[in-house]
Amino acid sequence: MSDTAVTAALARRVDRIKPSPSTAAAQRVRELKAQGHRILDLTVGEPDFDTPDHVKAAAIEAIGRGETKYTPVNGTPRLRAAIADKLTRRHGLTYAPDRITVGGGAKQIIFLALMATLDAGDEVIVPAPYWVSYPDMVLANDGTPVVVPCPEADGFKLTPDRLESAITDATRWLILNAPNNPTGAAYTPDELRALADVLLAHPHVLVLTDEIYDEIWYGDEGPGELPTTLAAVEPRLTERVFLTNGVSKTYAMTGWRIGYGAGPADLVGAVNKLQSQISSCPSSISQAAATAALTGDQGFIDDCVAVYRARRDETVKMLTDIPGLTCTPPSGGFYVLVNCAGLLGRHTPAGERIATDEEFAAHLLESQQVAVIHGTAYGAPGYFRISFATSSAVLTEACERLSAACAALT
Ligand code: PLP
Repeated sequence: MSDTAVTAALARRVDRIKPSPSTAAAQRVRELKAQGHRILDLTVGEPDFDTPDHVKAAAIEAIGRGETKYTPVNGTPRLRAAIADKLTRRHGLTYAPDRITVGGGAKQIIFLALMATLDAGDEVIVPAPYWVSYPDMVLANDGTPVVVPCPEADGFKLTPDRLESAITDATRWLILNAPNNPTGAAYTPDELRALADVLLAHPHVLVLTDEIYDEIWYGDEGPGELPTTLAAVEPRLTERVFLTNGVSKTYAMTGWRIGYGAGPADLVGAVNKLQSQISSCPSSISQAAATAALTGDQGFIDDCVAVYRARRDETVKMLTDIPGLTCTPPSGGFYVLVNCAGLLGRHTPAGERIATDEEFAAHLLESQQVAVIHGTAYGAPGYFRISFATSSAVLTEACERLSAACAALT
């Protein structure tokens, strides 16, 4: 069959979306490494720690017990009970197990929630900077992303005024991701309260909260205080909130592919119905591992956060010392969004003009072999994202090269 015939056979929804820029960046790094280049990779979207041993052991034990068959479509009762306990422990929220569903990563759960609710013309409010996948997931499910820029001056956070102006009769969802990828910003209880007041006045709007970085938090706003969530701040919104999370980032389990959603029974039921036709259930073995992660010793999280915090502090300091770059220190997650707007319009030693953040990132890769992801991918033109889920040695060398690349621009 010719390429033309294949292209003609594709559905329009495939043309509407693009491959994930972070996956594309990772692929480019792999290609360059395969060609023998030594690349300092700051694109990584996953912890550089290994999955804890007791979690691996639980998976091996599950295999030994013969837990190698289909599970209930919405996940095993043990895992759903462990998730319910976590939501109570973490937020004081009570979810009956039938209001929780488990899928192949938070990504799949978010996609299914949108698939379950969007019809053509439905709008989804996506505050920017945003996780790269939201707009494309909305488009793939026939919806219209309504991107609301949230400037650095507002801490990259959605304000009540901006939310109010973005809501129309066609609004179906607001997506709220905190701590945020790529900015690391999270909302104080008062800020959530103010957003909740707007949402209470618009009962047709659902809220998808993405809390995948909820435990990776540096407590700058007060020792030990983890960020809260909308449903905990305003219980009257509970029936309109779909809370999503997973084990990928907290427990270094990205490859195990377990995420979950908790929310209104009808929405959870619709997600289950779709899942029953898409994958039948998530992996039985990974579910056993995720149960062990959620119910076992939580010391792993503190150990990881201590390492991330040290790297964050070092990285922010090194970036701040580079003329032309600025950044707001992230409060959570393992990324820094760096402002490079002051360098755009300058020229490389070869005389090429660097007009956009995408060209800046490409120049950094070609000239200094440092891989970052350009901000426009996150709805943040004039920025680029650095991941500090990598060693201090790599971060230090990468910042030295970044400094050299910036200094060479005239
Ligand atoms: N949400 C955000 C904000 C993320 O950054 C990611 C992963 O990069 C995910 C969701 C997906 O997580 P999972 O591995 O559970 O699919």
